[in-house]
Amino acid sequence: MSVDPRSLQIQIYPADVLRKKAEPIDKVTDEVREVAARMIELMRGAKGIGLAAPQVGLSWRMFVVEIDPESKRAKGKSDGPLLATSGPEVYINPRFSNAVPSVEPGEEGCLSIPGVYGDVLRPPTITITAVGLDGKEFTRTGTGLLARCWQHENDHLDGVLILDRMIASHRVRNRLAVKDLEQGR
Ligand code: ZN
Repeated sequence: MSVDPRSLQIQIYPADVLRKKAEPIDKVTDEVREVAARMIELMRGAKGIGLAAPQVGLSWRMFVVEIDPESKRAKGKSDGPLLATSGPEVYINPRFSNAVPSVEPGEEGCLSIPGVYGDVLRPPTITITAVGLDGKEFTRTGTGLLARCWQHENDHLDGVLILDRMIASHRVRNRLAVKDLEQGR
């Protein structure tokens, strides 16, 4: 497989690749690192906080996240769950554990589904284990927007979109916008 990172662009719904289950990455090669760098560039260019490989046309289990580290940890809890990233972060072959046994609503949008926003219910705190660009596995616990973003991006690796998860009333509210995208308007 050979990918020209410069050719990668954000794929817009209903692109087929957004519905495919992505494949694990065997080894963190220079190609993977170059693709990750391009994904970070595209994410920042689109003013997003996360971007998954299927969103740039690659069925790879990798996503990037960057959330302003201004308030990195919950106030008064130096060892509490993370609220933001330390600059742009890359997550390869991620998996979750220790999701809190409850869900909270929060509004989500998606760089691949422009103009569509709605509430999605997700566990507010969760632990992620993934491989970084150095090829080493790491584990972090996040909460709030960071935990939500991880789960949103991980959904992309399984072909799942906010359209599938949005609460029913918001699905109705976005019906026409989704139809326009499906009809290429
Ligand atoms: Zn998305």
